[in-house]
Amino acid sequence: METILERVDDILVVLLTGCGGMTVALWGGMGIWVFRDIRARSRDILAQALATLLVVLLPVIGFIVYLMLRPRETLSEAYERSLEQEALLQAIEEPEVCPGCGQRVRVEYLFCPSCHTKLKRACPACNQPIHLRWSLCPYCGTNVTPQVIEPVPSAEPKPKKEKGGGPAEEAAQE
Ligand SMILES: [Zn+2]
Ligand SMILES: [Zn+2]
Repeated sequence: METILERVDDILVVLLTGCGGMTVALWGGMGIWVFRDIRARSRDILAQALATLLVVLLPVIGFIVYLMLRPRETLSEAYERSLEQEALLQAIEEPEVCPGCGQRVRVEYLFCPSCHTKLKRACPACNQPIHLRWSLCPYCGTNVTPQVIEPVPSAEPKPKKEKGGGPAEEAAQE
């Protein structure tokens, strides 16, 4: 009988040690996970400390409360979103890059000043610069026929010379 009792004791000790170890591991794991998670979501040291303390002091309930209250997006997500917004804003304010030479041009330019590509045209009714692809003037609502943007290479020979006009003729025209 004594040996059986001793064995039961041993088994109980092993079980309790196992359970205790698992609990401690889970507890520590939750604390570390929350600490990392809150650091990815907030730069506020007080918030980081409070969130970690909450989970360490109230292991399961604190964890659930943390999951309910934590900031919705991580810092990198917020940063990406702000970048996207900035890009969108820039696209609205200064979207123009010349399709011919890649140089930045102003919104109201009708032609690229460096490569002479036609960028926009003036609305026939209100004279505002509108995109070549648009079929309607956004300023006054006039219907216009859309055109395709064609880059004009600056190195292209002038058609004048192909006609066989001599240098004397060119000089006379000037
Ligand atoms: Zn250009
Ligand atoms: Zn117009």
